[in-house]
Amino acid sequence: MAHLRYKALEKANSRPKVKPENNRAISEYFKEDVFGLEKMETLLSPDVFKKVKKAINKGEKIDSDTANAVASAAKNWALSKGATHYTHWFQPLTGATAEKHDTFFDASSGIEKFRGTALVQQEPDASSFPSGGIRSTFEARGYTAWDPSSPMFIYGVTLCIPTIFVSYTGEALDNKAPLLKAVDAVDKAATKVCQLFDRKVTHVKPTLGCEQEYFAIDKALYAARPDLVMTGRTVFGHSPARGQQLDDHYFGSIPSRIYDFMRDFEDYALKLGIPVSTRHNEVAPSQFEVAPLFEEMNVAVDHNQLLMDLMPRVAERHNLKVLFHEKPFSGLNGTGKHNNWSLITNTGVNLFQPSSSARDNLVFLTFFVNTVKAVHEHADLLRASIASAGNDHRLGANEAPPAIMSVFIGSQLTSVLEELEEKGNIRVEKGENMYMKLGIDKIPEIILDNTDRNRTSPFAFTGNKFEFRAVGGSDNSASPMTILNLIMADRLNKFYDEVEKDINKGTEKRIAIVKVLRKYISESKSILFGGDGYSEAWVKEAKKRGLSNIKDTPRALDAYLSKRSIELFESNNVMVEREIEARQEIKLESYIMKIQIESRVMGDLAMNHIIPIAISYQNKLINNANGLSGLGIDNAEVVKTIKEISGYIETVKSGVREMVEERKRINKIENTKTRAVEYSDNIKEKYFEVIRRAVDKLELLIDDEDWPLVKYREMLFLR
Ligand code: ADP
Ligand code: MG
Repeated sequence: MAHLRYKALEKANSRPKVKPENNRAISEYFKEDVFGLEKMETLLSPDVFKKVKKAINKGEKIDSDTANAVASAAKNWALSKGATHYTHWFQPLTGATAEKHDTFFDASSGIEKFRGTALVQQEPDASSFPSGGIRSTFEARGYTAWDPSSPMFIYGVTLCIPTIFVSYTGEALDNKAPLLKAVDAVDKAATKVCQLFDRKVTHVKPTLGCEQEYFAIDKALYAARPDLVMTGRTVFGHSPARGQQLDDHYFGSIPSRIYDFMRDFEDYALKLGIPVSTRHNEVAPSQFEVAPLFEEMNVAVDHNQLLMDLMPRVAERHNLKVLFHEKPFSGLNGTGKHNNWSLITNTGVNLFQPSSSARDNLVFLTFFVNTVKAVHEHADLLRASIASAGNDHRLGANEAPPAIMSVFIGSQLTSVLEELEEKGNIRVEKGENMYMKLGIDKIPEIILDNTDRNRTSPFAFTGNKFEFRAVGGSDNSASPMTILNLIMADRLNKFYDEVEKDINKGTEKRIAIVKVLRKYISESKSILFGGDGYSEAWVKEAKKRGLSNIKDTPRALDAYLSKRSIELFESNNVMVEREIEARQEIKLESYIMKIQIESRVMGDLAMNHIIPIAISYQNKLINNANGLSGLGIDNAEVVKTIKEISGYIETVKSGVREMVEERKRINKIENTKTRAVEYSDNIKEKYFEVIRRAVDKLELLIDDEDWPLVKYREMLFLR
């Protein structure tokens, strides 16, 4: 009966032999397909190379002669590697990457051409990218502009040029432009603060390492689940008898089929310069992780986007499907992307690295305490930066991490901060002695004892970096990283001003710094939490502390438009009000569409796939019950099952019917925010779980042979 499922099961596990043929050492092919500085140095004249390098390092403009020289060298290199096309590669607000390929070949002259103007700027027909109304009201066109700080690369037979995407009136239409501005803001602010300690620091760069989680399942089974195909997650499906309770998958031996896939996509990634370095099984069955070595923020974000494009393509060759959705399977761990973040000076110092020198530890503490304070001040904005329909299933749904933003710093650093704060009543002495008195000299110990890592915290200090764990698996990290760098920039600027004011009053520099840090500790310590982030007790405790717990996307997004946020964005030159409004509008629209599609898929699957099967199985049972009673045999058990099935059928049918009516009503609501809230409260919250529970019960009651949908146990235990 269940044709689709059975055909899929027959087809599943057909394993094409795709063995990575690469037997070379990684060092031989790493960055092979990247037109980076190393390659430019060998291919450009010394003069041109110097100009490009300066432009990249200092963010300066590239003149047209230089652009022409770079374009010509890039084209020749690309042609020598078999490329035929080029594209401006950008990250519009859809969340994915976008590209439009043009050929180098100029038919009129019969040769390949690529001029500097085509490298520097393009005008994609961008009318169908989301702009939150910016383009319709102001200027219809948008253009892409070369971002030389992220290297070009060859993808397939196309030379890809990383670009930003902006409107003709200058508003950002992508994820990258605000990120670059936030990176610039934190560079300037952190450099200023560093110069309080060390004049040699002229630049500070944020770094990022994204630990990317994903599920991989058989392609044939995926294709037989319309919900997965349409929404990226399963809207129905009973948990398998064995889920993740044995804890046997995490770091377990990697299934050989996945191992082949990993090696294959890693080869491609390494050629593209993505420094993938770690692979392992994750907690849930069929869940895995890939992590690269951290890189400069901008490049790391591009690399993560590229990796998310690459992995599904390579998976095709292995008859696999990769899922980045935050919650593809109910009852199993969701999918996140830990964003490891730190700040590194041009002199090579990681500002979050505690050291054995007390003097350096004052630098460490300065950046550390300012981070805690920044998160405390703008927790709602951080929460908003990772809000999405998918991520709502993780945040605030009893899963890592909770929707309450808090910072975990470990017991040792907690006592360092406590001590520092309490010493407020002693007179701080000048000279090296003060470090001892303040307890700052003791910090190095934490490096040795940083084992009590708290896995339930959304924002954790892990030895020499902070780890923002609430980012969704399918998210573009540019959004949270824009906010994190922005709030840090703002904080450091304010810190600098306060310290300077005190110094101008005659206070010794280090004493002024310590004074401000103490004040910050006491102002922001309520954000520090080292306990179980999933517990009910924490929800209560957080409420007492005045921390917010925003569970859904429409409400979380409000934080973008608060007066405080707008001032934050504008005063740091990251975005203006209109750009922020546009972004909020786009995110709300996207939320609405996602919930709407899920709701439709649910209705369709329930009414066309589940209910007919349930009724025909029910009829079989009715025949059986009648037969039994005709023979004078007790049929009470069968009748009980029939009644149970009837009950669930009724729940599903009436649930779907009401949900459809609600959708009709809500779709008429003009205001986007109100409509989004209604979709959250009166579609998702009100119906999804009720309908799902009934369907999942039917899955348990109905004959396995008749069931139309591929089951969790069939999808999740890859052979
Ligand atoms: P975990 O124990 O959470 O898996 P790892 O120590 O393996 O963490 O590191 C995870 C990620 O953090 C990697 O991508 C790594 O490169 C990155 N990372 C390490 N140091 C830094 C840093 N200073 N800045 C940014 N990311 C970093
Ligand atoms: Mg981690």
